[in-house]
Amino acid sequence: MEDLMQKIVSLAKRRGFIFPSSEIYGGLANSFDYGPLGVELKNNIKQEWWKRFVHQRTDIVGIDAALLMNPKVWEASGHIAGFNDPLVECKKCHTRFREDQIANNVCSSCKSKDFTPAKQFNLMLKTFLGPVESNENIVYFRPETAQAMFVDFKSILDTTHRRLPFGIAQVGKAFRNEITPGNFIFRTREFEQMEIEYFVKESDWKKYFEHWLKEMKQWVKDLGVSEKMVEYVEIQEGERAHYSKRTVDIEYKYPFGQKELYGLAYRGDFDLKNHMKASSQDLSWQDPETNEKIVPHVIEPSWGVDRSVLVAMLEAYHEEQAPTAEEGESATRVVMKFPAWLAPVKVAVLPLSKKDELAKVAKEIYGELSKGFVCEYDETQSIGKRYRRQDEIGTPLVITVDFESLKDKKATVRNRDTMKQERIKIKDLADTVSAKLHG
Ligand code: ATP
Repeated sequence: MEDLMQKIVSLAKRRGFIFPSSEIYGGLANSFDYGPLGVELKNNIKQEWWKRFVHQRTDIVGIDAALLMNPKVWEASGHIAGFNDPLVECKKCHTRFREDQIANNVCSSCKSKDFTPAKQFNLMLKTFLGPVESNENIVYFRPETAQAMFVDFKSILDTTHRRLPFGIAQVGKAFRNEITPGNFIFRTREFEQMEIEYFVKESDWKKYFEHWLKEMKQWVKDLGVSEKMVEYVEIQEGERAHYSKRTVDIEYKYPFGQKELYGLAYRGDFDLKNHMKASSQDLSWQDPETNEKIVPHVIEPSWGVDRSVLVAMLEAYHEEQAPTAEEGESATRVVMKFPAWLAPVKVAVLPLSKKDELAKVAKEIYGELSKGFVCEYDETQSIGKRYRRQDEIGTPLVITVDFESLKDKKATVRNRDTMKQERIKIKDLADTVSAKLHG
């Protein structure tokens, strides 16, 4: 199983999905760059999420807040005081561990049992705003996107006149000085989140918690994840944040163990109340029907973008015996069976050879199809190798232009999963591709 992780990391690098950041300088620990295919995959996830939860709903609006906020935000939210992991250090080899992650009180590096007492370690990344590195100039990179939705709550109410229930959504970067980053893009210090704060009347919280649980289950399914790989874990009282009456961790069975993919929490009125107190601003909502003023309660569904990418890749990865060996290629193939909406490239257009007359027709097809779909044009290497490349990057459809095409005005459409080929009139290609991708 660990093996699968290595295969994903290597495919990601080999094909240009994700590679180590600043690699020519030896990289930066646990920092990664999304390459030409990775950025498409990641954008597909973010765009689908935005479409589904912001554009297609009448009860949610979006924001894009600054990464650096007034440090008072983090005092009020509890992050400065409480966003800590207890850290211990092995006295022999000086490796640091999260206290909750040491097995049997033994150092996993040197097997010593001698640790320092636990010390709190704040997870927020600090910097200075302005030229002077003084205490008054300290600011923090946001460790979550969520707080902006609370801090901007009043501006949004005033400008959109929303009634409960309604939500505020955001997609963006967050930073945490994680003690134990690792497992590729699973835990990094810079990552991206997609979060919604959904404001409800207190009496409605259970209903909307169920609603969001259902939405998250549907999302996981649409990501191409098989049900048996996911656990919906009810977090018990005592392990939950004190203000939360219900939290469900959505956990995935990664090759390195079952761990969090997404989270869903009922946060009560904890955040708005804290910000009301700290800012002395009124963040309540007046019910226009009863004129009653209330502080809304909140349900928070939270998605990690990078963990979505990782899980989508783990689920899509297949190695199989090709039913027919294609020209010059071995009978085993690696194929990324992404659902069509996720695939970084939807259609590849390949002229059988580099001959001008074939390239001309293929480029015309590319020109037409790329108006509606992300396409790739490729005329290098043998046709067999090009098919294998498209399989490995998960392209659902490959169109090949051959010498026959010049006469019959048809091209071959090859299906990634079945490898079946059919001849389609060139003038019908756009409709055929659309039907196959959306059908
Ligand atoms: P974990 O228990 O794995 O540290 P968390 O409970 O701290 O996660 P949340 O604060 O609930 O995570 O953040 C919401 C989501 O953001 C997580 O479900 C995850 O998808 C993503 N996330 C959190 N920390 C990281 C990280 N360091 N790298 C990548 N994604 C992350």
